[in-house]
Amino acid sequence: MSRVQVDRERCVGSGVCESLAPEVFEIDDDGVLQVHREEPAADELDGVQDAVQSCPARALALAE
Ligand code: SF4
Repeated sequence: MSRVQVDRERCVGSGVCESLAPEVFEIDDDGVLQVHREEPAADELDGVQDAVQSCPARALALAE
């Protein structure tokens, strides 16, 4: 099972991750990233991997 890791020191709240995997990531009204599923479903992994690679702050990782 893959697990989403967020480096909150690095995250700048850009929302790129939300645009690529909205089931998993959401920027709340305060501009803070919320992770809805730390262990994404199999059909969500492609979007999460895109988010990991596209995050401008390199704040995301997927760990096994
Ligand atoms: S894409 Fe990266 S910097 Fe932007 S909100 Fe997501 S984790 Fe934070």
